[in-house]
Amino acid sequence: LSGKYFSSGNEPAENNPVTPMLRHLMYKIKSTGPITVAEYMKEVLTNPAKGYYVHRDMLGEKGDFITSPEISQIFGELLGIWFISEWMATGKSTAFQLVELGPGRGTLVGDILRVFSQLGSVLKNCDISVHLVEVSQKLSEVQALTLTEEKVPLERNAESPVYMKGVTKSGIPVSWYRDLHDVPKGHSFYLAHEFFDVLPVHKFQKTPQGWREVFIDIDPQVSDKLRFVLAPCATPAEVFIQHDETRDHIEVCPDAGVIIEELSRRIALTGGAALVADYGHDGTKTDTFRGFCGHKLHDVLIAPGTADLTADVDFSFLRRMAQGKVASLGPITQHTFLKNMGIDVRLKVLLDKSNEQSVKQQLLQGYDMLMNPKKMGERFNFFALLPHQRLQGGRDQMNARQSKPFASPVAGFSELAWQ
Ligand code: SAH
Repeated sequence: LSGKYFSSGNEPAENNPVTPMLRHLMYKIKSTGPITVAEYMKEVLTNPAKGYYVHRDMLGEKGDFITSPEISQIFGELLGIWFISEWMATGKSTAFQLVELGPGRGTLVGDILRVFSQLGSVLKNCDISVHLVEVSQKLSEVQALTLTEEKVPLERNAESPVYMKGVTKSGIPVSWYRDLHDVPKGHSFYLAHEFFDVLPVHKFQKTPQGWREVFIDIDPQVSDKLRFVLAPCATPAEVFIQHDETRDHIEVCPDAGVIIEELSRRIALTGGAALVADYGHDGTKTDTFRGFCGHKLHDVLIAPGTADLTADVDFSFLRRMAQGKVASLGPITQHTFLKNMGIDVRLKVLLDKSNEQSVKQQLLQGYDMLMNPKKMGERFNFFALLPHQRLQGGRDQMNARQSKPFASPVAGFSELAWQ
């Protein structure tokens, strides 16, 4: 079946190189039949031998896409302040873990840790450790370099669930895992920036016969080309579709559900919070699966393994998966979140501090990229998971230093106010 949704474009053959990944997928499809879009995404992005994320650094100007922490240091600094503000609002625990999912180059966590050092007097009696969940060998090396500057040698053990350990330049222990389940279950603050959008999605089309899943098959008419087809009958991932769904095409992400459930269980048990930032929608969009190569849109079925594949995050689904276990806030736009966190004040401080015109220019350009509604300001959203008590402000959970019976507002989702 082909049509508007299912065409992968009519690229001339020279733009359709047979990559090792394409060869691998064609072999797989020939031997076991068409694969789901989720399986395709998973293979293309994280196959341990050939996956797009596994062996290269694709971030930044020379790569395929650029992210907020790579654009401006202010982004990470304000997120660092968010975590400190939540730590203070929930009673200044004596220890916490900072856990990041998919840390890229480690720039974001590096900027957050710099803020933690600068506010050392506030955090002085708190025992902090960093835990990074990363499947990419290559990016874990880049993260280690960013965070430790090789001051202390890294400990490696590919067989262990903790495959690498080190100490950051400010003396904080840092560990690497491939799976969130292996991170110790202590009191934690979790962060996921542009992580959920790379998790595999299943795609479904509404037909007169009911929902039908989109699969990927070999095009019988063009050699070495893939195409989308519709499954002839119902498939298991259909259970993720809501009974009252009104859209005619949808994407569901079971892996996102599993991770949100795990985060929710942990936060309900040990407190803390999770901050999720990504591009996405609140259960309204339909076909958002796309590829990026060299900062340009890229046909998802062409030259697999050479481009990033992503799908917008459905925040209504994340909220549903957290329901009953923890409270959620958002999604709100990046523009609103960063405004509430005081980005304007921070920009002014940095502009005043710098004498160089080129640095000022860079700060202003970065600000525009993050905040402009036409750029990242409205496409990106912030979403948080918090223990129920955090929003109720029940007496039992009251901060020992506070006497207010009401919960303090959550920064970012309301204006930041230091207590
Ligand atoms: N957060 C970073 C990087 C975003 S790119 C930033 O904003 O700059 C996505 C990141 O998630 C990469 O580090 C990639 O290697 C990692 N990743 C992709 N799939 C993953 C998975 N299933 N488990 C853990 N990490 C994953």
